[in-house]
Formats: sequence, C-alpha cells, structure tokens
Amino acid sequence: MDKTFCRYHPAQPATWQCLPCQRPYGDCCIALNADAPDEVPACPLCAGPLQFLGAANSAQPFWERIPSFFAYALQAGPLAFAALLALASLFMPRWIVLWIALFSVATKYFHCVIEASSQADRQAPSLASAFSGEGFSLFCKQLAVFLIAFGALWLATDVDSEALYWLVNIGLLLAMPASIIRLALDKELGAALSPEQIGQVIGAMGWRYLILCAFLFILWQSPGWVTYMLSSGMPRVVLMPVATFLFGYFGVVMCAMMGYAVFQYQGALGYVVADEEGAAAYPAPEYLRRRALAEAEIRLKEGQSAQALDTLAKALKRDPEDLKLNERYHQLLFGLNDRVRCQHHLAHYLPLAARLNPPLAATALLNARQLGSDYLPDDALVCERLAEALLQRHKIREGLGLLRNLHQRFPAYPNIPRAYLLASRGFAEGLGQIEPARKLLAFIRARYPDSPLMSEVASLEATLDRLASLV
Ligand SMILES: [Zn+2]
Ligand SMILES: [Zn+2]
Repeated sequence: MDKTFCRYHPAQPATWQCLPCQRPYGDCCIALNADAPDEVPACPLCAGPLQFLGAANSAQPFWERIPSFFAYALQAGPLAFAALLALASLFMPRWIVLWIALFSVATKYFHCVIEASSQADRQAPSLASAFSGEGFSLFCKQLAVFLIAFGALWLATDVDSEALYWLVNIGLLLAMPASIIRLALDKELGAALSPEQIGQVIGAMGWRYLILCAFLFILWQSPGWVTYMLSSGMPRVVLMPVATFLFGYFGVVMCAMMGYAVFQYQGALGYVVADEEGAAAYPAPEYLRRRALAEAEIRLKEGQSAQALDTLAKALKRDPEDLKLNERYHQLLFGLNDRVRCQHHLAHYLPLAARLNPPLAATALLNARQLGSDYLPDDALVCERLAEALLQRHKIREGLGLLRNLHQRFPAYPNIPRAYLLASRGFAEGLGQIEPARKLLAFIRARYPDSPLMSEVASLEATLDRLASLV
C-alpha cells in the first residue's frame, strides 16, 4: 500500500485524515491537546472530527492476517515457551508453589506477546522476557480478573434462570479479550475491570470486535479439539504434554492477534503507538496556539486568506503577546497588501517585536514602509531599538528616520544621549556624513553634560575629527 503524506507538507507521513475534505494531514498540521487527551482533533478546514491513520496508513486488518499469527507463534521464543509448558506438565512435581510460578511465567509471556504485537513488532518476545520484570504481580491481577469472572458466573448459576446464566456467560466471554488487552497495555487491575475502559476497547473496534472474539473463541477451543482427536489410542503420558504444548502455541496465536488488533485500532483506542517518536501533545494554551498557526497556514495554502486572517485574529485575542502569531498575522497582512490593517496591527506588533526580537521588528517596519505606511512608533524605546536593528541591517535612512527629533517627540525620554549617539554613528558610518554626526554629538554635550556616555561621545568626536582632517 502506498504511503500517504501530509497534503501541505509532502515530506511528512499522514497520521490523520478528513474524509469529507479528502485531506490527509501529518502531525505537522494537527496538534494534540494534552489537557484533553480523549478529544478527537478537528479538521482545520471543515472542523469535522478527523480520522486517525496512525497505523491504518499501512496496517492490514487483523482478519486478513490470520496465517501470519500462526506463523508468528512458530518463532523460537513461542516454541520454546510451549515446550517449557509441555516439559513442566510432564516432569514438574505437583507442588503448588511451582505451578503458581509456572502460571505466572506463562501470564507474563502472553502479556509480552500482546504488548510486542501491539507495536507491530514481528519478532516474538524471547522466552527470557517471561522471567523478567513484574511477572508475578501481573499474574495476580490476571488471576483476580478470572476469579471475578468466575464469581459472577457462579452467582448467575445460583440464580435459577437459564437465560440469565447464558447472558452472563456470553457477556463475560465477550468482555474478556478487551479486559485482557487492557491489562496487557495498562498493567492495572482497575483498567482491566473498568466497564468504561473495556467498553472503550470494544467501541474502538466496533463490530470488528465480534470478529476478534469469534476467532479467539475458535482458537481457544482448538487445543482441546486437537487433543481430543489425538486422544484415541494415545497414552496419557504423551497426551498431557501435547495438550499443554498446544495450549501454549494457541495462546501465543491468540495474544498476537489481540495485540495486532490494538495496533490496527491504536488511534481509536487512544494508544498512540505510531511508528516514529509519535505525535506530541501540548498543554492547552500551546495546543491552541499551534492549532491556530497550522490552520492559518493551511487556509493560506488553500487560498482562503480571509479565513487565515480570521483564525490568527482569534488566536491573537486569546494570546495577544505571542510573537509568532503576531509575526504570521503581520506577514499575512503584508502579503495581502492590506495597508490599513497592517498599520493598525503594527501599533501593537512593533513594540512587542522590538522587545523580543528587534530584527523581526525591523522587517515589519520595512514591510510597512513598502506598503506606503509612514507609521512611526509612539514609544521612544521602540524607536531606538528599531533604529538599532535597521542600522545593523544597513537600512540607514529608515533607521535615522526613527530617531529624528527624538528629544522633541519624547522630551521625557531619559536615553536621548544614547539614541543620538547611535544616530551620530549612523550618519558617520552609514552615510559618511560627518557634519550631522558632529551636530548630534554637540547637542549631547550641550544638553546632557553629565551623561555617563560622555567618554563615548568624546571618542567618537575624536574619530570624526580625524576623518574630517583626511577629507
Ligand atoms: Zn502538514
Ligand atoms: Zn474536513
């Protein structure tokens, strides 16, 4: 099957899709909300719920892969496991402790298979993995689940109603795979017993869960049938290990199938296994911000610039101080040649950018000038920072324009000497105009004789004198 890629970022694999819009999206375009992990992300274009592709991009439905589960259980790990069970049934003394240990190892191994298979790992776990980690506690939890199920069944038998008995029986049979899957993945008894969590597994697979149950039921019966067929004429000493071996083998097949079903429906199940590092989820504010940025980009690429502006404007209302949102908004207005709105936005954007990232502010001002706007920031510090960034970019005239008559426009501004020293350098170094540079320095000397910058003024004056004598 071909790999699908994000419609807007052709190098990113698609992880989501919107069927009505026929748009595949990558994680690049769809942010996840860490504060609402169950929330299904919405299509940036139609706001309808997206379908998670996670593995669906490549995963084959589990019912088409039945032979591969049988092959899976023929690997060294599962065969060694089944052989271990067979040998134990033959030679192990009937000590309860030993048998509990064996069951706990078996439980651990089955759960390892579900887990590995749920990550589409084609390599079956080695037998050694059954002996590591929390085997015993897992066994106890699984045992608790079975005991509770038997308890329920026993209670149902006690009530004198055949219908109720069968209802409970079938209900338990149907719920059991989902419960085992929960336990294998969450490792928590609470999850394995919670009707809600079990229901989520069933709901995620829908009616295909019944297919899974049907297959599991057949597999569950298989060792018994095979043993029954072999039973005629075979001594018990041979039959017993054969039956346990088959139990181990078919158990692995069942677990591989359950695990794969989880992999296939990982999106709906809320297990983001994915393949690479997986989509990251962000806390709500960052999520909203990323979502707005992605949506604006998509809208723009779809030629819906008005909606893109709208999206960003809404996000800015929530988060007016966000530099990136502001920058995108500005770029969009500039790209759309919207002089009036661009100028209006600059009044907010320039001070912010001048504070956080002066080069960005310089770009914005140059953009505004291109649109024919004569906007001048009404804050002296903003003017100074912008001028500095512009001078660094050799946009001398634009930079000097911001500093012109600064002492008249902002008489209370305490940093006039610093700003005029900057302007003086701009004239001298940028334009090679020594006279205006000198005038500015003389102005500083006359008006601010106590400025701590006097030594710099003096050294610049000396340089200008030398330059003047060369001319
Ligand atoms: Zn994308
Ligand atoms: Zn859509």
